[in-house]
Amino acid sequence: MHDKTLAQTAEALRTGEVSALELTKHYLARIARFDDALNAFITVTEEHALAQAAEADRRMAAGEATPLTGIPIAHKDIFCTAHVRTSCGSRMLDNFIAPYDATVVERLARAGAVVLGKTNMDEFAMGSSNETSYYGAVRNPWDHDAVPGGSSGGSAAVVSARLACGATGTDTGGSIRQPAALSGITGLKPTYGRVSRYGMVAFASSLDQAGTLTQTAEDAALLLETMAGFDSRDSTSLDEPVPPYSTVIDEPWDDLTIGVPENFFDEGLDAGNAAALGAALGELEKLGARLKSIRLDNVHLSVPAYYVVAPAEASSNLSRFDGVRYGYRSPEAMTGNLNEFYKRNRGEGFGAEVKRRILIGTYVLSTGYYDAYYLKAQKVRQLISGDFARAFAEVDIVAGPTTPTPAFRIGQKTGDPVEMYLNDIYTIGANLAGLPAMSVPCGFAGALPVGLQLIGPHLSESRLLKTAHYFQRATDWHARVPPGYD
Ligand code: GLN
Repeated sequence: MHDKTLAQTAEALRTGEVSALELTKHYLARIARFDDALNAFITVTEEHALAQAAEADRRMAAGEATPLTGIPIAHKDIFCTAHVRTSCGSRMLDNFIAPYDATVVERLARAGAVVLGKTNMDEFAMGSSNETSYYGAVRNPWDHDAVPGGSSGGSAAVVSARLACGATGTDTGGSIRQPAALSGITGLKPTYGRVSRYGMVAFASSLDQAGTLTQTAEDAALLLETMAGFDSRDSTSLDEPVPPYSTVIDEPWDDLTIGVPENFFDEGLDAGNAAALGAALGELEKLGARLKSIRLDNVHLSVPAYYVVAPAEASSNLSRFDGVRYGYRSPEAMTGNLNEFYKRNRGEGFGAEVKRRILIGTYVLSTGYYDAYYLKAQKVRQLISGDFARAFAEVDIVAGPTTPTPAFRIGQKTGDPVEMYLNDIYTIGANLAGLPAMSVPCGFAGALPVGLQLIGPHLSESRLLKTAHYFQRATDWHARVPPGYD
């Protein structure tokens, strides 16, 4: 059963080849068998999943099903769930049960999807390897000594190892696309505002966006058409109609010009990745796309700009975690004065990477440094948006690498934060400019998967998904299963 994509599973449920309960039990058994080694789940919600599956079977029998009814999925543990804790990968929220469901959780539940559990992630979504999680590193199903990417590393590993039909994730600087690339699956970060951020623990509010991790673009389309849409509870949510993505992707191929940024293929790109990407671009040409060489001149400034803007917003967003009303409270909290109370709770509740970001963010926002750093970074952000706007006056889609290298070893980059940050060099631009972007499996470097990134203008999800869907009809990289998980 787990050899099927989400779309194929929906078909099997519809025809009665399998029931939601059988399917859910099958996936729970796989989780029990494989997740001790992978550590991809923080919480498995067996009882809740079985109850949702029984309800899904009842709905299907009553003829009230949607295409997602009975489909087993997993949520990144950054989405608030009323039925089980939401840790955000942090000791700070280890004991936190939200009083409500995030909009994403609510909409997927309403459609009848079955939630198997909450997936592991970098603490407060800060990281590119899943190693900053309070709950430990996640292993890459393709190579247990390698990272699955981050911060949505648990969701990526779950889909890659076929422990769920699909998963949710969030992407602030690459956290859906980068783990999708390193784990050999399809990741979609929609346009900023396309999916509601209500109930999603905030990291950097002007960059955060929820999206999907799936085997295929078709699966992503099915999830996105349910998740997306206006939400009055999120003031940055876009009030734009949601196209029927899963049918749009099958429309006839139209004229497509793809821009290939020359400077994305410089010496920073691993030779194995470059070879796989070259072949993938050739495949797109065969499908009828015209390739055009372009330049995104300010992209080399995206990492420094991001590491001012994102920590600044994080330092403000994370100030709410103090152990007063909820969250971690130190056993020693009440033994000193008020200052010591905060120091103990936050000092023990947050991990090293989160503290580093709070310190950077507080620094760049402080009097005397605001103009030199924060304002400057906002100007760079404008330059990067301008680069993309110029590109999209000439091309429909920008295509290039998702990551500079395939998955790296666990522990390889933990000693050098800047080395870790550079992993997101190709992904951060889309967040700074609020653009939709995807990563699609496009080959291997050695035994490890490589991702092709597609970036489009605002609200061009239909075109991105369709291009990826056509690419996946012509290739089978997305169908490869890590050894031992088939
Ligand atoms: N890796 C980047 C960071 O550490 C992006 C994280 C994300 O997209 N949530 O901030």
